[in-house]
Amino acid sequence: MEYLKNLSGKLLDQIGKRLWAKVLLAMVLGAIAGMLFQFSRASFTSETYLSVMNWLAFPGKLFLKLVQMVMVALVVSSIITGLVGNSNNQLKSIGLKSLFYFVFTTLISVFIGALITLVIKPGAYVESGFNVSKFNDNQAVSGSFSRPFGDFILSLIPDNPLQAFLTGEMLSIVVFSIITGIAVNSLKQDLADSFIKLMGAIQQICMSIVNWAMLIVPYAVFGIMASLTASADQNTMRGLGLYTLTVMIGLALIILFYFLIILFVGRKNPFRFFFEIKDAVLLAFSTTSSAAVMPLSLKIAEETLGIKQKVSRFIIPLGTTINMDGTALYQCVSFLFITQIYHIELQLPALILSLITIIAASIGTPGIPGAGVVVLATVLQGAGIPTEGIVTIMGMERILGMFRSAVNVTGDLTACVVFDKWVK
Ligand code: ASP
Repeated sequence: MEYLKNLSGKLLDQIGKRLWAKVLLAMVLGAIAGMLFQFSRASFTSETYLSVMNWLAFPGKLFLKLVQMVMVALVVSSIITGLVGNSNNQLKSIGLKSLFYFVFTTLISVFIGALITLVIKPGAYVESGFNVSKFNDNQAVSGSFSRPFGDFILSLIPDNPLQAFLTGEMLSIVVFSIITGIAVNSLKQDLADSFIKLMGAIQQICMSIVNWAMLIVPYAVFGIMASLTASADQNTMRGLGLYTLTVMIGLALIILFYFLIILFVGRKNPFRFFFEIKDAVLLAFSTTSSAAVMPLSLKIAEETLGIKQKVSRFIIPLGTTINMDGTALYQCVSFLFITQIYHIELQLPALILSLITIIAASIGTPGIPGAGVVVLATVLQGAGIPTEGIVTIMGMERILGMFRSAVNVTGDLTACVVFDKWVK
């Protein structure tokens, strides 16, 4: 008895210290509570049901709000403090390399997604009941690419940075911060010093607030899991089994790809790497938001992986905003799945154009819950494919969102290890 007490005491002690253990425990307990709640649902009035659901969601919302509150300041200060002190050549090299690297990994993800969806054909097993006889697929798909690429580049530069701050347009904020960070390097030392000190202080203030927010994480995860399982609809899950499996296989292949990158480019033991980043991955999984995990990713990159600050502070905020390999794969599989259920045969040029659009779409997807599917809807619409298709996949959205966000965050941390090797 005494032994058992000791053991459980030790276990609780360990759990108390480790975020991943707390998050795992909260996920399991949350899932159990949610299932119990679903089974006994008949005994509650709908008012009580709604109010319990609201309270379950509360800690999660509180956590996300706190992180959201510091997000803009954290991104700006991290990027600027990451960029200052580098020579122009270094900046050019890390900037260009990171863009190529992110586009390359996204390309690989989209390629994996297209390959497995075309081979497995999950859409062939789902009836859409939609008449596409009037639908001219290839014309419609190519119609979506009329917007000049130059316009897209221009749209990244904010007309007014304050407006970008107010509306939280992350891509514009990142571009603004990079330009400002480079400009700081041209200041005289004494002038630059005071600005850098201010930015450093802002970064630390944000991280302190995030540390407090992290205290809520286990409760947030418990609530998120409980409300998720309480409202899960098992029939939709069964119907969409093959589609879900296709996305999962694709995500697993991306993880395998990261494994190889860590091994051969990062020259690090991949198992150790995955073990070291587990807190961030679990948090991404349970919150379905890579933006919410960004502060923790920064901390893990610097404190656990030992990445140089000038790498982590540039790569993590940039990666969180534009590097979404899990999302790219999900959007690609879902896009092709929807074309399959509507029996739309894409010819090669239309297929390639669609994949390019998906790469751009994933880059523009914000790291917030459910963003991937919203952006997918606009891609479908642009390509002239019925957006009603989204309804079919909506039942699986949440669970797939968990996995793809975890992959997105793993991709950012993988990039950190690679760039830590590349940047001297
Ligand atoms: N929730 C995802 C993320 O934060 C984005 C998405 O919905 O695909 O990484």
